[in-house]
Amino acid sequence: MDIAVCVKHVATLGDEVEWDDSHTEVDPAFLEWSLNEWDAYAVEEALRMRETAGDGEVFLLSVGDDEADESLRRGLAMGADRAVRVDPGDHAGGLDPLTVARALAGVLSEQRADVILAGVQSSDAVQAATGTMLGQLLGLPTVAVVKKIELGAGTARVHRELEGGLIDVMDVDLPALITVQTGINEPRYANLRAIKQAREKEIAVRDLDAGGDGCLRVTSMFVPPAGETAEPLGDNPADVARRIIEIVGAQLS
Ligand code: AMP
Repeated sequence: MDIAVCVKHVATLGDEVEWDDSHTEVDPAFLEWSLNEWDAYAVEEALRMRETAGDGEVFLLSVGDDEADESLRRGLAMGADRAVRVDPGDHAGGLDPLTVARALAGVLSEQRADVILAGVQSSDAVQAATGTMLGQLLGLPTVAVVKKIELGAGTARVHRELEGGLIDVMDVDLPALITVQTGINEPRYANLRAIKQAREKEIAVRDLDAGGDGCLRVTSMFVPPAGETAEPLGDNPADVARRIIEIVGAQLS
């Protein structure tokens, strides 16, 4: 059972934010970086699937510059066997979901995998698009927002999370692409020895072959002004209650 996991090194905003000159990106000095939360769940799920199957390998794929090695090494320390990074170089168009999905598809067209896992979304871009685009580019059955995976012979039974807490159970033929929802498992911590060993592991790097236009371009980014109609109701519960009665009463009269 060979499982590929797409992992993204994501940015987290600090308390303050400033923009770069183009005003389309946050100044990198105001960002911290880490493994995308959804992808940590996907790595853990892949490791459990390999353990259940009793053979095969878990390999990690990321599109990003050499800083992304940090997230790949976290996955390697958790127990993944190897990692491939596609370096975008100075790719001018930015990393929109289609460009990333094409880059991931390029690697996966050369390496067989029974299951390909991605996160439902990345916490910084929040596109919730890259995994499903990748499934379509590879021509694979694609199931999104999965909270449980049970492997069968050549199939997997997956539980998909729907609106209002409903669960949709379906069987999907393998190979398939599955996007993983948070809470599917409890990602393991890597011990110090595994972290040290992961530092020594080689990460295969290849260049991005953009192969076509991206599908999105950021034109500007800003913090929206705070709502001007908001009225702070104060800290005293009795005053707050009185004011709510006044406001609701005015609406009803
Ligand atoms: P997004 O479409 O950006 O919300 O990301 C959804 C999922 O696609 C993530 O959880 C990752 O599994 C995968 N993904 C997105 N960007 C990358 C990237 N640069 N490298 C590898 N996987 C990615």
